[in-house]
Amino acid sequence: MRVVNRLIANRFFFALLCAPRIVSNATVFPPTKKSSNMRQSTLLLPTLKENPADADVVSHRLMLRAGLIRQLASGLYTWLPLGLRVLRKVEHIIREEMNISGAQEVMMPVVQPAELWQESGRWQKMGSEMLRIKDRHERDFCLGPTHEEVITDIFRREVHSYKQLPINFYQIQTKFRDERRPRFGVMRAREFMMKDAYSFHLDQESFDATYQEMYDCYSRILNRMQLTFRAVQADTGNIGGDNSHEFHVLASSGEDTIAYASTGSYAANLEKATAMAPPAAPAPSQDLEKIDTPNEKTIDAISKLLNIPATQTVKTLVVKGVESPVAIILRGDHELNEIKAAKLPSIASPFAFAEESEILQSMGAHPGSLGPVNCKIAYLVDRDAAALADFVCGANEDGVHFTGANWHRDSPLDDAQIVDARNVVEGDKAPDGEGTIEFLRGIEVGHIFQLDKAYSEPLEASVLDKDGVSQIPIMGCYGMGVTRLVAAVIEQNHDDNGILWPQPLTPYDLHIVALNPQKSEAVREASENLYNEALAAGLEVLLDDRDERPGVKFADADLIGIPQRLVVGDRGLKNSVVEYKKREEKDAVELPLDQVIAQVAAQAVI
Ligand code: ATP
Ligand code: MG
Repeated sequence: MRVVNRLIANRFFFALLCAPRIVSNATVFPPTKKSSNMRQSTLLLPTLKENPADADVVSHRLMLRAGLIRQLASGLYTWLPLGLRVLRKVEHIIREEMNISGAQEVMMPVVQPAELWQESGRWQKMGSEMLRIKDRHERDFCLGPTHEEVITDIFRREVHSYKQLPINFYQIQTKFRDERRPRFGVMRAREFMMKDAYSFHLDQESFDATYQEMYDCYSRILNRMQLTFRAVQADTGNIGGDNSHEFHVLASSGEDTIAYASTGSYAANLEKATAMAPPAAPAPSQDLEKIDTPNEKTIDAISKLLNIPATQTVKTLVVKGVESPVAIILRGDHELNEIKAAKLPSIASPFAFAEESEILQSMGAHPGSLGPVNCKIAYLVDRDAAALADFVCGANEDGVHFTGANWHRDSPLDDAQIVDARNVVEGDKAPDGEGTIEFLRGIEVGHIFQLDKAYSEPLEASVLDKDGVSQIPIMGCYGMGVTRLVAAVIEQNHDDNGILWPQPLTPYDLHIVALNPQKSEAVREASENLYNEALAAGLEVLLDDRDERPGVKFADADLIGIPQRLVVGDRGLKNSVVEYKKREEKDAVELPLDQVIAQVAAQAVI
């Protein structure tokens, strides 16, 4: 209830704030005549004609070519003036919507003391993504990869009563993660900006309300950025629980696979996606038979030899278990989902395959000839493998397979052994029976999930409830990749010539290109007048007043991608017109000098 009230109050305040503005971006960069950063002759805007080597995705190439960023070292980037303008607009939208949602902005240190991480138990667990440093007194610190510990520390010191709950803190701040493979420019960097938020609640109902509020807030943010996105069910890592959604910007370059139902509403990250359980196995119709397969070590080879589909075979993978190796049996055409597997109680987490020597010792045969019949170690069977009859499998004897194998008769199987451990594939039935699974690629730009008491308990955060009893709060956590979003926007908004900024994020509203200003007093004067008129109208304007060939200027204008462009040349000025072109349109039109800025301003309203 309190959240709702706060929300209404904030919305009202926000409406007041917005009302007088022509261009909502103006609050980020108030127009100023003095500002030299709006003239291209003085602005640091180093565009590149050629595609830089080692930039594999289009957003990385265009961010370098359009002079938005420069790399300092692997995964470390400097934001140049044009890029920073876009980044600030991304931040601005996020900040406005987070404020509307009732969250409170804070800013926590990047450098964090080891003691806090020792308290939560993560100092050891974090692995090498966390960069550890020592100060001059040899004390241990890290560069914050995330801020659960720090916010929980603030909470335990400063929040004491149930009356202060629910409370949601957020910051927009630098994170450092020593990623194994920094790549795709700012998409997977080592130092990057994240908006992270952390909420505290006395009960599940309160958490659920804030979770929904954050879900809606993320949707509003991405809609305001005009992105095509999808919220999908996501894996919760070690925390567990069902409340977890990732927000994916759809793009072929995305690192994640999203499984969604063709006709239903189901959508999940492949890491988590599940299909409808298959019907039970039919009755056996073949006898178990041993065959020699001296050269057939793969499912492909065995299927070819026997002229059967891979769907009639099973494969056996041996993985590290909590105590000893465990075999996982999958249908031959299916792939193991290591994230699902690592969550099974008998399997070691983090997930790892058993070593070959371990396999030989425990199974009595090499990979390529393994199977569930006469298996000497514990095994788990994926639901689709458990639904097979008369299947082919390795015989746990090098160079030998069985045909006509059947569960129960040849290989014991009880319900506790049947698991969901595979990646879904396109064409699978959706788990709710609504449609079939299809895939899309996505860039994860946000992740919201329940932390429960994973940090509040070990860090001993508590509040007094209304009966004066001490309670440990449950927490929610809501991340959004601020710098990654800039790249994601470009992935969805570009053509062969460069970027096409959506109006809410464009570094400037208008690009005025003066043709040969060095040669023409009339061009200089007219472009200067238009520039001043546009500034007075509240627009953000970039004036190309450089002494460059028109071809260079046009190519740069397309590359930089400002949505509206005016070309001021001697020929047009004779008729008191300028050329007007929208970035996404092919052809320019001529507009009268004295009307053009009003037209531009009308288009620039968000
Ligand atoms: P990923 O699976 O991409 O590594 P994550 O699960 O580690 O992401 P979170 O810890 O949930 O990410 O961080 C919140 C958000 O921060 C992510 O949704 C993503 O947008 C952004 N982010 C995470 N790692 C990076 C990175 N190395 N570079 C840029 N942005 C990142
Ligand atoms: Mg990560």
